[in-house]
Amino acid sequence: MDRIAVALWSSLLEYQKRAIGIGKLSPEELKTKRHSFLSEAHQRMSRNLAKDIAEGGRGRFRQRAKSSKDWKGAGEALFIATCYAEGIEGVGQDTEEAAIWYRRASIAGSSEAQVHLGAAYGAGNGVIQSWKTAVEKFGKSAAQENASAQYLLATCYSSGKGVTKDESKALALYRLAAAHHDSGNPEAYASVCCAQNALGDCYNHSTHGVTRNNIHAIKFYLEAAESNCGPALMNCFEHYLNGTCGFQRDFILAIKYLRDAAVQEHGNALHLIQNIVCESRACMACGKPKATRKCARCCKYRYCNASCQMVAWKHPTASHKLRCQGAHSPRGNQDASPFTSRACSSGANLESAFMAE
Ligand SMILES: [Zn+2]
Ligand SMILES: [Zn+2]
Ligand SMILES: [Zn+2]
Repeated sequence: MDRIAVALWSSLLEYQKRAIGIGKLSPEELKTKRHSFLSEAHQRMSRNLAKDIAEGGRGRFRQRAKSSKDWKGAGEALFIATCYAEGIEGVGQDTEEAAIWYRRASIAGSSEAQVHLGAAYGAGNGVIQSWKTAVEKFGKSAAQENASAQYLLATCYSSGKGVTKDESKALALYRLAAAHHDSGNPEAYASVCCAQNALGDCYNHSTHGVTRNNIHAIKFYLEAAESNCGPALMNCFEHYLNGTCGFQRDFILAIKYLRDAAVQEHGNALHLIQNIVCESRACMACGKPKATRKCARCCKYRYCNASCQMVAWKHPTASHKLRCQGAHSPRGNQDASPFTSRACSSGANLESAFMAE
């Protein structure tokens, strides 16, 4: 989800949290109206901002967003802040202006703006860098039950940045942030997955006063990985690869998580997978290097032999069947059986049916 959508959606959720009577929508109504609300609000605000820019920045939209102390004004100020932060909607990127508008929106009550303002202080983006001020902003936002603020404040307590190090406070905040996971609106809280991953680390390494527990660690890592959390995907990759932290060693699953991390452009995931596939030419079932046989359909996946290929083909959750059908290779033959090379007759046995290197 793009940042404008996150800003608009979090504004609506914050408004809903405080709404009473007819202004309050049920979770189901929120879900069904989500798309129409977002596009309607986006169009309205874009239109107002464009008019405002045309009037030389002194238009009514900006004036109202600047002075109003209600939820509508908070949402509008957060929208303008996001435009400055990203340099979109006809507004040039300007971190100082973004910080000014984040501050206005947080004064009007937006906890989402408050956490962005805290992050700006942490990074020194448009304001004078100060972890102490960042912690103060995160604290105010976390008190409004903002999951991102709870997570970021936890990392400060965990590392002692801008605040006295306190691992038990960090743990409590990680738990609060991770608990938003079943709030029904996880996409508005990008930090929920990172809190889950951090809890996985606590249980795996026995830190923050937690007793080592593989079952809890695996649960948190897998939940976070399901939300495509980069660090969690890498944790799952390493543990499936090495059979550590109570994970059952499974090279096929390890590669699946590494590939997902590469898609998220996380760290060196892409480099790692290129190494495994291109340089060490690993068997995609067992991981042994210098595999000489290839799947005859996609001409991409290498295996040691027919039994390795069969293991990959029959994998219960990450079968090569699912990827092979979508693979397009100039040398590949989409209609061919993966076990039968074009040169082989249909009666050939699996071993001879491989397309050898
Ligand atoms: Zn994450
Ligand atoms: Zn193999
Ligand atoms: Zn294939």
